[in-house]
Amino acid sequence: MDARVASICCRSLSCCASHQPVQLLWLSSEEHFRSRNLNSLLVCKGRSIHSPLYRKSFQHLLFARYSSEFQPNAASSKRRGRGPAMLAMKGDREKEKEGGQYKATVDLPQTSFSLRANSVVREPEIQSLWEANKVLERVSEKNDGSTFILHDGPPYANGDLHIGHALNKILKDFINRFQLLQGRKVVFVPGWDCHGLPIELKVLQSMEPEARKELTPIKLRKKAAQFALKTVEQQCRSFKRYGVWADWSKPYLTLNPEYEAAQIGVFGQMVLKGHIYRGKKPVHWSPSSRTALAEAELEYPDGHTSRSIYSAFKIVHVGDNFPESLKNFVPALGVAIWTTTPWTIPANTAVSVNDNLQYAVVQVHHPSQTSLAEDGSSKVGTRTKKIGNGLHNPDLQYLVVALDLVEVLESKWNVKLEIKGTLPGSALEHCRYVHPLFQRESPIVIGGKYITTESGTGLVHTAPGHGQEDFVTGQKYDLPMLSPVDDEGNFTEDAGDFKGLSVLSEGNVAVVEALDKASHLLMEEPYAHKYPYDWRTKKPTIFRATEQWFASVEGFKEAALSAIANVEWFPPQGENRITAMVSGRSDWCISRQRTWGVPIPVFYNIKNGEPLMNPKTISHVQEIIRQKGSDAWWYMGVEDLLPEDYKQEAEHYVKGSDTMDVWFDSGSSWAAVLGTRKHLKSPADVYLEGSDQHRGWFQSSLLTSVAVQGSAPYKKVLTHGFVLDEKGLKMSKSNNNGIDPKVVIEGGKNQKEAPGYGADVLRLWVASVDYTGDVLIGEHILRQMSDIYRKLRGTLRFLLSNLHDFKPESDTVNYERLPMIDKYALFQLANVLDDIRESYECYHFYKFYQLIQRFAVVDLSNFYFDTAKDRLYVGGTKSFTRRSCQTVLVAHLLCVVRAIAPVLPHMAEDVWQHLPFTHFLKDGSRCHHVFEAGWPQTDAHWKSLSKDDVEYWRTLLQIRTEANKILEAARGGKLIGASLDAKVFLSTTNEALLARLAQHTTEDPDRLCRIFITSQAEVLASVNEATSLDVKYTGTSTLEGLGDLWIGVSKADGSKCERCWNYSVKVGSFENHPTLCERCQGVIRHGAGLGAKCETAVVAV
Ligand SMILES: [Zn+2]
Repeated sequence: MDARVASICCRSLSCCASHQPVQLLWLSSEEHFRSRNLNSLLVCKGRSIHSPLYRKSFQHLLFARYSSEFQPNAASSKRRGRGPAMLAMKGDREKEKEGGQYKATVDLPQTSFSLRANSVVREPEIQSLWEANKVLERVSEKNDGSTFILHDGPPYANGDLHIGHALNKILKDFINRFQLLQGRKVVFVPGWDCHGLPIELKVLQSMEPEARKELTPIKLRKKAAQFALKTVEQQCRSFKRYGVWADWSKPYLTLNPEYEAAQIGVFGQMVLKGHIYRGKKPVHWSPSSRTALAEAELEYPDGHTSRSIYSAFKIVHVGDNFPESLKNFVPALGVAIWTTTPWTIPANTAVSVNDNLQYAVVQVHHPSQTSLAEDGSSKVGTRTKKIGNGLHNPDLQYLVVALDLVEVLESKWNVKLEIKGTLPGSALEHCRYVHPLFQRESPIVIGGKYITTESGTGLVHTAPGHGQEDFVTGQKYDLPMLSPVDDEGNFTEDAGDFKGLSVLSEGNVAVVEALDKASHLLMEEPYAHKYPYDWRTKKPTIFRATEQWFASVEGFKEAALSAIANVEWFPPQGENRITAMVSGRSDWCISRQRTWGVPIPVFYNIKNGEPLMNPKTISHVQEIIRQKGSDAWWYMGVEDLLPEDYKQEAEHYVKGSDTMDVWFDSGSSWAAVLGTRKHLKSPADVYLEGSDQHRGWFQSSLLTSVAVQGSAPYKKVLTHGFVLDEKGLKMSKSNNNGIDPKVVIEGGKNQKEAPGYGADVLRLWVASVDYTGDVLIGEHILRQMSDIYRKLRGTLRFLLSNLHDFKPESDTVNYERLPMIDKYALFQLANVLDDIRESYECYHFYKFYQLIQRFAVVDLSNFYFDTAKDRLYVGGTKSFTRRSCQTVLVAHLLCVVRAIAPVLPHMAEDVWQHLPFTHFLKDGSRCHHVFEAGWPQTDAHWKSLSKDDVEYWRTLLQIRTEANKILEAARGGKLIGASLDAKVFLSTTNEALLARLAQHTTEDPDRLCRIFITSQAEVLASVNEATSLDVKYTGTSTLEGLGDLWIGVSKADGSKCERCWNYSVKVGSFENHPTLCERCQGVIRHGAGLGAKCETAVVAV
């Protein structure tokens, strides 16, 4: 196993919870990881480490792609011994044994903020705190920025939430909380989609068959509403538990009367603008649900196989353009067609050709030795094909097929097709053929580009009642639109002998058999392809012409396309998806033959069926619905539903029974929510939903909005992918691989196997994934998230615990006087804050996740905190070095806690409630909650570090890494134990660097030994001098662009100070404190509380 060992002192993260150095096993070998994609985690496949030794002292840790940067700094502190603090916290007996007389002078970290989050209990407490103090409302009201509007897409109110819902709402919450910190007002109104078939079906399924018969529309609607409201309540509780901030007391529900009224208003506007019409058109029809379906209600499962047939129709007349030379074939000439829906043959009213294709008249010759079995069947792979009688029909010895397909068809039909002549498609127009099953003539017509030679024969069987393209061609030639199929998908009497047969089963078979019997079937074979299924019943649908209400997308398609171009799509490929969908969209069928929905407010004349619907009738119904809800449509009489002017004629009308497509419901939310709620308006700043909504809510919202107000209802549209399990498989009940967000947060039945991680760990996972594609989740990933969460918590705990005695107003050290190491730490803080802010602004939350993790582990824990402990614990309570360090820690605390707040709001608030000092807002008022504090404004000074200084510190950190390697070797060779036992020598061939290094030896926190955490460090004037020294552990390395570096490690000079464990030659020279070094005796002599005088400065963060 290619495993490199990195180590991090646990104390640098957890401070005093445990002082056993925790080592992190860093698996670098590619094979141990599965890379999700460029930006996401490397997921360790979870090889367990079997050695008990490993298990005890090693933990897995995931690092994102900066792990290569992690490596150099990592080998740092296994060897660190931070004596005093450790000693002071040990049991009394041990303290005496180890001589703890100075323990009271050590400044131990103190905080009640525990390392253990106890999220299952603590998070709800924090949520109650927010609710009781109306934090969201108050902060939003106080913020002076403009209102930020993220408009919520309504989930269906028909079941428990799944992990996809959690991903969606948590992403929205990141955005809202970030905007709130940026000073914007945030009004987030959550919504629910409450109408529609799924709920209707749930109600029906929950009832006994007898009770179902008794069900009136009104009873059904009451039950459906109860079911929806109950579900809304349950889902609402879950969303709140995720820590999602919203106006939960006033959500929008599509069943609310005011919502329904606004929706009727949108519909009325579209009627007024002439975009709504009634017509007989083929629509996707679900026989199993007995209703029309929208494109968004279809799915295309794998594995559908149709019975496809080749059939020939005999030509009886030729058109004017038919070539003279081919006319003598006509008595025995047929047109060959191919279809995957034989049941549509009874509705055939034309054959279409492409006028740009070349066609051939071919003669059918049968090979003398047939490879077919006697019954005419043969096996092609595993698929059975059947040759029909049509190939032996003397009336059809000549066939018209596309020239390009002659060879293909020869092999398919197992015949020789002799080309007798060719002709362009246009020459076939106005020829007439006789229907193979019914005695009626139909024309050959010019279809369009949709007719190709990719499959079939190049001639298309056309049934305008059963296909979209067929319908368009039918309109062009005024073809009859036959659709002899009823609501249940059975043939009607118009289909003659086929009456009563189901078109999707026995009806289809009967048509094929009839064609064969009539000697018009050339061949039949199974054909696997994508076929639309009803997404709810999982049964196949058909195309069927019915009387429906349509929104004429054609009427505003150009406007819709230009609106799309004005919206910002993220990820950008979303624009192509929705553009293609809208430009290919035929008119939108908006009527449904269901009960649980908003009625189409139309009346029909009893005598002639003419619809009555105009602005007057619509606004009358709209007002009734606003006051009484849409139930009124069902329980009120026509007389009352009609406005005054029409009441006299009420007896001549009936009310329509269709409801609107639920996509029209949710697609009207820009009007019903953004258009009616205080502070909101259309267009919204952001819509954010799953990528399947390009054909769902994004589109229905766009279409209604463009139709009514001429523009899109959103400025920006973000999409996220689906959540898959750790192996990348779709979650399903049958796979038993679902991850329930409730269990993630609160834990499962077996808390050992499924511990409750709390909402913040779930949220951290959401931040960690590149949500623009599909994302993975599983137990292993969650455990990693929990580890990283704990590390961040440890970082914040270190900050809190070392500020227990710090008063920002009096103890802060002015920036100018800060040591270099502190200035450099602030420089890094300022930069990481900029980067984090940018990652939030660009919605790249995974970048936030990587940045904060790297910052906490590499920059803080491994370096700054590691070096800071010396001065914090033993530097003297009020010493300058301790106060300057605390000045930096305060800045870090106040910045980091706010930077993580959008993603980890519970932890951030928990930290805020444990602040050891009071934070005041600009107006002098006390800041009680982290979100009141706003986004941290960094001090301009922090970035004022010169380029030279920055470069120098980067070099110094490289040198530190190299020094650590030699120290590690010395420790391995038992020369030293802890790093404080050592003295480091260094030299370099680079003179400028050498001079700069020499400067470090004087001022305390910047002294090289403090940075290396050794007792001494000596810079030697030349490498020659260095190599002549008698030092056992040495190493030479090359610093990038800066020449050679030489490092040596020997045992430290002098003796070990009892208090700080640093070695000094001065130990033993102080009469009253013979066991102390010069620093410690100074601290003790002046009282631990006395140190350099501090200046007052304002912490501007
Ligand atoms: Zn000391």
